[in-house]
Amino acid sequence: MKRVVLGNGVVGLSIAFGLLRRANASDEIVVVGPPQRPGSATLAAAAMLNSFAEIEHGGLDTDVDLFRFEMSHRATRLWPAFELALIDAAGDRLPHGCSSCQGCAGGGCFKSGTYVVNNNAADDLDDLNFDAILSALVDFNEQHSVISPKDIPHYKPHQRYRASRAVFIHNEGWFNPRLMLEKMEGALRRAPGVRFIDEGVDRFHHADGVISHVTLMSGKQVEGDQFVLATGATAWDVLDRSGLRDLMQRIFYGIGTSIEIRSQDNALSHVIRTPNRGLACGLYAAPYFQGPNEPNDHVLVGASNFIAPQLHAHGRLTSIEGLLNGAIKQINSKYYRADLIRVNVGARPNSQDTYPLLGQTSIGNLFAATGTKRDGFHLAPLISEVMAKMLHGDAVDEGYAFFAPSRKPLRTMTRDQAVAKAVRHQMSAAYQHGFSPATSRMPEQLEANMRDAVERLHDQIGAKDWGIPPEMLDMYRYGHAIP
Ligand SMILES: Cc1cc2nc3c(=O)[nH]c(=O)nc-3n(C[C@H](O)[C@H](O)[C@H](O)COP(=O)(O)OP(=O)(O)OC[C@H]3O[C@@H](n4cnc5c(N)ncnc54)[C@H](O)[C@@H]3O)c2cc1C
Repeated sequence: MKRVVLGNGVVGLSIAFGLLRRANASDEIVVVGPPQRPGSATLAAAAMLNSFAEIEHGGLDTDVDLFRFEMSHRATRLWPAFELALIDAAGDRLPHGCSSCQGCAGGGCFKSGTYVVNNNAADDLDDLNFDAILSALVDFNEQHSVISPKDIPHYKPHQRYRASRAVFIHNEGWFNPRLMLEKMEGALRRAPGVRFIDEGVDRFHHADGVISHVTLMSGKQVEGDQFVLATGATAWDVLDRSGLRDLMQRIFYGIGTSIEIRSQDNALSHVIRTPNRGLACGLYAAPYFQGPNEPNDHVLVGASNFIAPQLHAHGRLTSIEGLLNGAIKQINSKYYRADLIRVNVGARPNSQDTYPLLGQTSIGNLFAATGTKRDGFHLAPLISEVMAKMLHGDAVDEGYAFFAPSRKPLRTMTRDQAVAKAVRHQMSAAYQHGFSPATSRMPEQLEANMRDAVERLHDQIGAKDWGIPPEMLDMYRYGHAIP
């Protein structure tokens, strides 16, 4: 069987690795993707393995959300064994940065533990989300410690931005995603049944309900028995070029900026982050491991988010300014004298309904794995296992039917819920970006204006009994998302 994986980010490589682990001698695995990885979300990620730290108020209320959370929770538990399998498979092709790593037991870049702080840099949506995290930690009996913010190592916010509450979640770690991709590639390139083609795919060719081959950007053709579309945010564009735009809902570009800095202050030992806030994942600082004998002084600060119908290759100044300011004021005031090492910009694969697309499409030999938004790195071991099972025709948990790629967009919110959430998140985003209202009814008036605009948009597109996910408002407003 020849299986062609399109895309060389963490999702594509994890699937290829999952297939490799099950391959027999006659199986062939081909990985297609440009080595520079333009617009790759993986390269911009902090690669945090957060499940509980990502929970939002009301975020576990539907069966779909609960299943997505269970996937993420399970992924955390799969990482240690997955990491060891990669180290083992990479052998002499293990990148130098990972050369002394023995997986999570041995330290390296895989340490566990995330501090979530509840500060007043945005608005009280943070408080609600922090409460939701605490409740879920208790409900799911997850190991955590409620601590005083002053006991967090490396945490030195400006006085005006100091947190009033904090929790340490013991099992939520992080990686250096660049090292991880090198390691995954090392493991795959070493295997005799795996071949890499270092360029992009242009389009699929299909006849009689089957994909026969793909044409690459160079015009070269690649045939296969099964194909996996895992090109991240570009996935729907590939289908569009192939005359298959109706096969899946549209995938948008969740443009995210992160910055890598080098701080002279004592080393950051664990992730320090806020809860999700205002249409994004909040502010965080994550250790950015460089290698066994390197000083542990690099930090990844993230992340901004805006949804677009196409790739933006460069970070916006407002995103970079927000991250720099946020890091100095809310994480460690000593960062004012840190070195700026790199600005990363990547596109999160963001589906129209905001949920992942995983599995077989309505074309039997075409599978898709995208729409992972801001959790795709974390989900990698799970996606690896589940997609390999699906490609081999094995049964998987029936919950994955929620995320079948050829589904109609899921509508998990009522109109009223969506409107209330949109206003809540837009206000939070405004406060996060420096909104300072007059001492008057101004915030209420602003909220009323926002509510009117969101209600009008729902009317315009005929959304009577369902709600637009807040981060997708502009995509509906400007006609990029079709109801
Ligand atoms: C700033 C930021 C921070 C993030 N932080 C986290 C985090 O802490 N934890 C977490 O779990 N997730 C995080 N994410 C999300 C995570 O990065 C994504 O969910 C995940 O990386 C998606 O992986 P992917 O392989 O689908 O996409 P990508 O990493 O974008 O990879 C897609 C690959 O396909 C290639 N490609 C594109 N077009 C084609 C084509 N036509 N043919 C062949 N190949 C093609 C690209 O070059 C790229 O290498 C973050 C994202 C961003 C942007």
